[in-house]
Amino acid sequence: MAALSERARRLMRPSLAGLEPYDPGFTPTRVILSANENDYGMPAEVHDEVMAAMSGVATNRYPDPMSNRLRDAIAGWHGVARGNVFVGDGGDECLFDLFLAFGGQGRRLVNCPPTFSVYALYASMVDTEVVDVPRDPETMALDAAATLAAAADADLVVLTSPNNPTGDLVPVDLVSKVCDACPGLVLVDEAYGEFAPAGSSAEPLLPAHDNLIVLHTFSKAYCLAGARCGYLLAAPDVVDALAAVRQPYSVSSLTQAAAEVVCRRRDAFEPAIASTVAERARVIESIDALGSSLPIRVWPSEANFVLVRVPHASQLRARLRDEYSILVRDFSDVDGLADCLRVTIGTPAENDLLLDALATLVKEES
Ligand code: PMP
Repeated sequence: MAALSERARRLMRPSLAGLEPYDPGFTPTRVILSANENDYGMPAEVHDEVMAAMSGVATNRYPDPMSNRLRDAIAGWHGVARGNVFVGDGGDECLFDLFLAFGGQGRRLVNCPPTFSVYALYASMVDTEVVDVPRDPETMALDAAATLAAAADADLVVLTSPNNPTGDLVPVDLVSKVCDACPGLVLVDEAYGEFAPAGSSAEPLLPAHDNLIVLHTFSKAYCLAGARCGYLLAAPDVVDALAAVRQPYSVSSLTQAAAEVVCRRRDAFEPAIASTVAERARVIESIDALGSSLPIRVWPSEANFVLVRVPHASQLRARLRDEYSILVRDFSDVDGLADCLRVTIGTPAENDLLLDALATLVKEES
């Protein structure tokens, strides 16, 4: 994507003129391990049902702005009421609406980098101050004491569990303490929660904490990254505030129909989730074994990706893409992530290709 012109920058809102268009760094390759998608794809029988449901949609009519049928399906799944569910055009839209409704001048977000860059971006787009509580540069662990202290003065706290790109969980008891300490809202982003062990979700805390919000997406485990659908679970008055600021028709009727089928057929995704979790252990073990003789390091992960540190990460990523047609994500420009790449866990065959290529390239680059 081209950089913004000087003219465009002059015309833009001054507070936004430093932004650049989002670049996912995508190049078509044989193996795509760069965006934490589900590489197994939609189970065939669910795919057929999704297509049948979408073909029945009257596209001449506007969608239901609140996705109420889908909200009911999500509510039944999570054991909450319709009023506790907010659906967006991807988790990204939910996040934007959250900052639009609850951020703004004089408001503060507590952010724990390195983490998903969108939080700080959206916060700054609506003039919200970002207070960073950095992770440990060695272990990548959250600084629990500093997060709790900062929460006492925050309008919004975002905790990502598992965190992107470091893969670690936020302990549920820490979430509970942060909710108690924070006078504002606490978002726990569980976009990758399906890949984490049972009992790691903050959802059971919802009834006791009306300032807690939990984010989920259909983009990762549930194969709808292209359809765009995510949702928040929150107190009804928080959902109402989000409904007041949202773009009314952002979630298309096609997306609503597809997501309703996926809710109903969610059990069909379990085999791919279980295989991803098993493959994650195998990939980590293999990289650890490589690390005994070569300069490569992998962090533990509870998500469908791993963070690795390699020599000359940007060059190594380019060689993976150009010589092996394998795409991974380069994080080496991010503070605290020098020489780090994020690698999605793919199918067993894709992971084999990656591990073989890494063994060769790390040797050559070291
Ligand atoms: N949260 C986290 C931590 C993510 O990594 C992502 C996607 N990269 C999202 C939310 C949003 O995903 P989507 O908009 O596809 O639902």
